[in-house]
Amino acid sequence: MSARAQIGVTGLAVMGRNLARNFARNGFTVAVHNRSFGRTQSLVADHGHEGEFVASESLEDFVASLERPRKVIVMVQAGGPTDAVISSLVPLLEEGDIVIDAGNAHFPDTRRREAELKAHGLHFVGTGVSGGEEGALLGPSIMPGGSAESYEWLGPILEKIAAKVDGVPCCTYVGPDGAGHFVKMVHNGIEYADMQLIAEAYDLLKQGLGASAAQIGEIFAQWNSGDLESFLIEITAEVLAQVDVETGAAFVDVVLDRAEQKGTGRWTVQNALDLGVPITGIAEATFARALSGSVPQRAAAAGVLQGHAGQWDVTDREAFIEDVRLALYASKVVAYSQGFDQIAAASAEFGWDIDRGAMARIWRGGCIIRARFLDRITEAYERDEDLPLLLADEYFTGAVGNGVPAWRRVVSQAALNGVPTPAFSSSLAYYDGVRAQRLPANLIQAQRDYFGAHTYQRTDRPGTFHVQWTTDRTEVEA
Ligand code: NAP
Repeated sequence: MSARAQIGVTGLAVMGRNLARNFARNGFTVAVHNRSFGRTQSLVADHGHEGEFVASESLEDFVASLERPRKVIVMVQAGGPTDAVISSLVPLLEEGDIVIDAGNAHFPDTRRREAELKAHGLHFVGTGVSGGEEGALLGPSIMPGGSAESYEWLGPILEKIAAKVDGVPCCTYVGPDGAGHFVKMVHNGIEYADMQLIAEAYDLLKQGLGASAAQIGEIFAQWNSGDLESFLIEITAEVLAQVDVETGAAFVDVVLDRAEQKGTGRWTVQNALDLGVPITGIAEATFARALSGSVPQRAAAAGVLQGHAGQWDVTDREAFIEDVRLALYASKVVAYSQGFDQIAAASAEFGWDIDRGAMARIWRGGCIIRARFLDRITEAYERDEDLPLLLADEYFTGAVGNGVPAWRRVVSQAALNGVPTPAFSSSLAYYDGVRAQRLPANLIQAQRDYFGAHTYQRTDRPGTFHVQWTTDRTEVEA
């Protein structure tokens, strides 16, 4: 077997197959392998004409067919199967070779694997790949971690197959070890928030206006030509316009209202708790999916818990639609601002030195959260790479600030009319919290000092203090 393939893909289910085709279509010679040979054979039989594939039945032949340093993409089921494939690969590889896990790994696993392979003299690149099966084939957003040295080999290949926006590839080096998979995880968390916010906007328009799915779809289609222009808004308009063939009803009206999840939203929230970063938009979106699936609780509450909500009577239809649009945009900026805070916190914690503006740039195409306003985020981090709060950037203070009265009207009207808007309202609460001159955390500190002698600091002089609550209640320096 001559070593002539520039890149290899092992794991040829839908994602691996499409990635391999993407490489081949872009002129690379691709080594392909799968545990069961049938998938490899069918890939070559169905798509062999699209480019140069080198098919191998054994892992040994697959590895032998690769140019050095070998670049092997593992695209198998996340978790145990990924570990199993990596273990089989390691003895076949040589120093300097690069193993790329392009599946949906949890970043602590990527950190562990990177350390293990480094001990063997191998590079391990955990890379986020977003865009689903279509993205894998036509151009995904790619978020590679691992060593900077490995990116020198891999970068030109990955950038060639990535989505392009204005000629710029949606792929860049993210940072060491687990940085790539971390950023992909936060991307997915933001996706959860974005979807929940859109769902709440749909519900508000439905309940406030009594509008049909098709009418709401038209509103979303209009929104897609402004600041909100994005893949998710675009597909929402299409989904809302869809008619169920069987019943003739709007498609969304026959879909059961229980949202599922694969777990990346949960990982994002768990990590945010570890880092102490408030990502309330993503958290509320994750919990909203959980609430929708809380079948016994919902059954127990239905018709029993009183709403005391009046009949919602929106008088100015156009003004209400504009209010919802502004509230959606503002809440969306909060969710992104929080997600970028999480990236900054992890970057500091793990020494990743992630360029947040570059992350916004590689999310502009190929991925689920691709959107016009990501350019604005890149510009904000170009103005100040250490920007402590995206919301405080000069562009976003104006863009969000102008919508605040509308945001308050929407959230308060929703509350008065008993329409749940966990993401809209928690985003507004975050906005008010982060801008507050003084928060009631002073009282919490005082309570903590009272029951647990946890001490506090004063506003008027430095130091750490404690009140002797159980004796004479005098203050002492701690
Ligand atoms: P999948 O269903 O997650 O996995 C199936 C593949 O894994 C098959 O090639 C299978 O081989 C192989 N496999 C399973 N256990 C194995 C083992 N112990 N040893 C060797 N091979 C094993 O495939 P997928 O849907 O294409 O997804 C691949 C990866 O991409 C996953 O990590 C998934 O989470 C991720 N993913 C990402 C996106 C995205 O948008 N980025 C979308 C979907 C999936 P056989 O054919 O022999 O069974």
